[in-house]
Amino acid sequence: MILEGKTLAALIRDTLPARAAVCAQKLGRKPKLAGIGWAADYGSYVYLKKEVEAAQKTGIDAQVIDITENTTHAEFLQIIKNLSSSRTIDALLVPKPLPKHLNTLEVWENLAAEKDIDGSSVLSMGRLFMCKNWKEVETMRGFPPATAMAVMKLLEHYKINLSGAEVAVIGRSATVGKPLAHMLTCKDATVKICHSRTKDLAAALQNSDIVISAIGKARFVKSSMIKNGAVVIDVGTNQDAQGVFCGDVDFEDVKNKASQITPVPGGVGPVTLACLLENIIISVERGLEKV
Ligand code: NAP
Repeated sequence: MILEGKTLAALIRDTLPARAAVCAQKLGRKPKLAGIGWAADYGSYVYLKKEVEAAQKTGIDAQVIDITENTTHAEFLQIIKNLSSSRTIDALLVPKPLPKHLNTLEVWENLAAEKDIDGSSVLSMGRLFMCKNWKEVETMRGFPPATAMAVMKLLEHYKINLSGAEVAVIGRSATVGKPLAHMLTCKDATVKICHSRTKDLAAALQNSDIVISAIGKARFVKSSMIKNGAVVIDVGTNQDAQGVFCGDVDFEDVKNKASQITPVPGGVGPVTLACLLENIIISVERGLEKV
């Protein structure tokens, strides 16, 4: 069975224009997203452009602030502080990973958690890791990282049981692997985190009911690495040697051994975009509740 993400993404997105309109009426202006554009990272730039386009279709204003290798850390930090305190910007999207010449931790420390729709701020990350169960994740202030949330929503949508399940997450980044592993434990899964120093990846994956790959290597996960009937979730977005867009999982090789599998494109990606869009609206709704 193919766990396609487009249907779920459409379900999430369908509710948003009406909610955006209510927000606009109460605010006296449209909700507004500001995104930082770092064109040198082609993947994250394309992603930002898609999000901006989707936001505008939803009734959300969007602005892109481009930075270059000449943008100093001090200048970038000031941009983040200004946007975080702006009364007319409701949501912020900052590229991950940040350009190497910027001090990542200081940026995430100064990003306002209530506007940080991709859950990168130190506050949101800290709050997420304090959660003991799923209810606490769902009600936490700030946001969990959107890609990790998209995977959780896909698993929930397709009714894949996590309680007591053995799950292997390949990848330990702060963007996907680590927060996702923690969120899975909040739904009572037993989680193994694998990475580039895992000695025998195939052996580590063999007993896993669910394998989630977030490594960034085209078609790296083969059928020989997973057990019969495993659920396989592919977070990776890669280009192969021929320039073809593909996931971390060798879909054609794995699809007959897995019981359920996400495609790339059309799996986790569209749900991530939908989660980010919904987070823009949630950030405004939460702000209005406080007034
Ligand atoms: P990242 O920061 O580069 O992390 C990659 C992780 O994979 C690291 O933990 C690394 O291990 C591990 N790894 C690399 N090679 C490995 C190998 N041969 N065996 C086992 N583990 C290996 O990447 P990321 O930001 O987490 O993103 C991962 C992928 O997801 C990328 O393709 C990215 O484009 C994609 N992505 C997709 C979405 C979406 O919405 N679909 C959103 C975000 C990211 P070490 O820690 O040991 O180096």
